[in-house]
Amino acid sequence: MEIEILRYPTNDDWSRCLFLARVTQGRDGIVTPSDDWKKKILSAEHSPIRTLMYTIAMWQIPYFASVHFVRHKFGVEHYVKSQRVNPNRGEDRQDSAVNHVMDLNAQALINISRKRLCYKADPKTREIMENITKEILKVDPVMHSFLVPDCVYRSGCHEFQSCGFYEKRMQ
Ligand SMILES: [Zn+2]
Repeated sequence: MEIEILRYPTNDDWSRCLFLARVTQGRDGIVTPSDDWKKKILSAEHSPIRTLMYTIAMWQIPYFASVHFVRHKFGVEHYVKSQRVNPNRGEDRQDSAVNHVMDLNAQALINISRKRLCYKADPKTREIMENITKEILKVDPVMHSFLVPDCVYRSGCHEFQSCGFYEKRMQ
């Protein structure tokens, strides 16, 4: 398995994001926002963050994990190399490897991490999401406090059965 960040927001993308945010306040002009402002708008989850795009390649991940990611459908497009080589699809195993590329906005990335970093998520899918988070933070450290499990975001796990992560963290 290999995670590759093929695209993440550039300075121009961030300037555009700030411009869009300022339009709503009747102001204009293109300026590059500070890291402080970037964190503020990511935290507020205002609509301009939906213009910040990421392209994430997941090379050779298990088919079942790919299916988990495909469940997320808002602000994300999925491109998966399907297994048409084998005419007898019934023989394809659930853990056979596929290549899966997600093209998604910052809000979608935050939303997906909330679900897939939870300890109630499938362990393999969670491991992939952890690797994605690690790779994103290398190139885009401003995302640091936003790619967290739901239980951190909501001060407690809201799954039917708590994953226990938050309680353990608070001890
Ligand atoms: Zn949880």
